[in-house]
Amino acid sequence: MPSPASVSAPLSTDVVIVGAGVLGLCTAVTLKRRGHRVAVIDPGGRNASAVAAGMIAPALEAALDDVTPERAALFRSARRVWDDFGVDLEPGPAAWRGPGGEAVAARLKALGFAVRVEGADVLTPEDVRIEPETVLAAWREDLQEGWIQDTARQMERVGEGWRVTGADGGVIEAPFVVLASGTATAPGGSPRAVAGLIQQLQPIRGQIGWTAERLSDRVMRGEGAYVAPSQGGTLIGASMEAGRRDLEPEAETGQRLLAAAGRLVGRDLSGTAMDWRVGIRGSTIDGLPLAGATGEAGLFLALAPRRNGWLLGPLIGQVVADGIEGRATSVEAAAFDPRRFF
Ligand SMILES: Cc1cc2nc3c(=O)[nH]c(=O)nc-3n(C[C@H](O)[C@H](O)[C@H](O)COP(=O)(O)OP(=O)(O)OC[C@H]3O[C@@H](n4cnc5c(N)ncnc54)[C@H](O)[C@@H]3O)c2cc1C
Repeated sequence: MPSPASVSAPLSTDVVIVGAGVLGLCTAVTLKRRGHRVAVIDPGGRNASAVAAGMIAPALEAALDDVTPERAALFRSARRVWDDFGVDLEPGPAAWRGPGGEAVAARLKALGFAVRVEGADVLTPEDVRIEPETVLAAWREDLQEGWIQDTARQMERVGEGWRVTGADGGVIEAPFVVLASGTATAPGGSPRAVAGLIQQLQPIRGQIGWTAERLSDRVMRGEGAYVAPSQGGTLIGASMEAGRRDLEPEAETGQRLLAAAGRLVGRDLSGTAMDWRVGIRGSTIDGLPLAGATGEAGLFLALAPRRNGWLLGPLIGQVVADGIEGRATSVEAAAFDPRRFF
């Protein structure tokens, strides 16, 4: 990765994106490919996107959350956008193993997902995976001088656009700002209605761990845990702890995940050496993200994809880019429109 650009001189660009998680970077990649100049500002460090398991899982997410056909269709169209997004996808199938397999298979079928049953496993080829940290690093590198390592402290209206000031004193001006800042509070100077909406997002703490042991050749999900092959070892995840935003891994949560993962792979994992991590997901009350215009000229959001930020990322990038170009007319744009809460 190139060293981040200095922001000592004012920078003028087309779109400033606050936050370099999967949503900010998918928006940046999409806008850049469409010929816009973008600047992404982020202090760096491991965010929720980096600790995620990287499952692009329209089928099992739809079946396990027992979603409506409309929501399953949103997940399916999000998965399709990945096909042309320039990232190598690790193929499925992904498996559900455990009690309720018949019901999971029936829900998958009813929602139109491909499914086959193999012994105790319900398999779907529709769910794939990416390696989050590798993909994030490639996208950041692609930004070159558009990657700015800083925290957006303040924003204010300037003429037709916005001025964003970083904690280091650097200034960026652009007609458009996209807040893709995860579960953080909005920068100072954000319009009150927007800051209030962001304040209301529910944080959901997620603990996940990595072991150098290869426990499975495929993503396998079951009651209380999943295992996913990753970087030569295995990820074991993940807790869903609503209302919490503390970042220290907890031993007790780790033991609970190890016990559930042990039942999945059929061996005792309690003594396994683990590198535990925590990320905070953001959610709205309807469980769908905030992606698109806010009603404040030039101010857009890309926030709160709950536990599907990787699945939804490229679709959210597309919706936000369409909004900036004044042509957000899709079903997805309507479903994700932040103005449904104003
Ligand atoms: C344990 C775990 C496992 C998961 N597994 C999956 C999975 O397998 N598949 C899937 O689809 N999803 C998964 N998710 C969910 C997914 O990770 C999240 O939905 C997604 O990462 C949210 O991305 P984001 O860009 O909104 O936020 P983040 O990744 O949190 O990024 C927000 C960024 O904004 C920056 N920021 C905040 N404020 C400012 C500011 N003022 N100035 C500059 N920068 C700022 C932060 O530094 C951060 O880098 C998982 C989540 C967790 C926690």
